[in-house]
Amino acid sequence: MYQTIQKHYPDAVRITELETKIIIDLVQKKLDLKSTIWATSFCSDEVNNLFSPFYDLFAGPGPFMLGGISGLPFSGITGMKAFLSHAPSHGAVLILYGPHIGISEDGQIGKVNRQNQFASSTCCGSLVAAVESLKKEEHLPMNNPLDYQQARVIEHLYNKRESIIESDFPLKEATDVAYQEIHDKLYNILRAIKPQLTDLKLYLIGGIVINTDWAIEDYFEIKNIEFIELT
Ligand SMILES: [Zn+2]
Repeated sequence: MYQTIQKHYPDAVRITELETKIIIDLVQKKLDLKSTIWATSFCSDEVNNLFSPFYDLFAGPGPFMLGGISGLPFSGITGMKAFLSHAPSHGAVLILYGPHIGISEDGQIGKVNRQNQFASSTCCGSLVAAVESLKKEEHLPMNNPLDYQQARVIEHLYNKRESIIESDFPLKEATDVAYQEIHDKLYNILRAIKPQLTDLKLYLIGGIVINTDWAIEDYFEIKNIEFIELT
């Protein structure tokens, strides 16, 4: 497992290391942790309920969940506006975002062994299913209110269909594409509402969550860090 992580995500750090880095960064920027709220745009999968110290450290409990399946910020402009309106006066907001990918102890990409499961299961299930749809050239109906998020996930990956299905590691490629789509969508949402924002400090960290088997600590490969100060 460690070799597989090293091979595909050489810059990945343990989640506890990332937590420490975030705290140090915020303190160095002289931000009051109790005047900071946090949000995630991660996949709904419960394995992404990480960063447990943040529940106590920040104005809480957090996080505001901007993401839906795959990690795309399905809560949209309305969700982002709601989250930002919750920021403490003269406070800061931290947003963590990105897709996730499982790497099981025996090195299988896209699988993890969850607590008390006898076999490994897919991770990210949404992206695994989306890759299967791409292989079959399958679109899901966008107007089905019972599965519209997955329909959107497939559409977000469709432009990169060839590079995904021809890759030696299609799920890894799909995860990279998903990262870029999540990043672009999140920034587009922020750009759309920026004129309405004042007196706010935004700390954004994007990357890929690497989930491991239940008893092993997860990892995160940072792909973007940005600090934005709006006056
Ligand atoms: Zn997922």
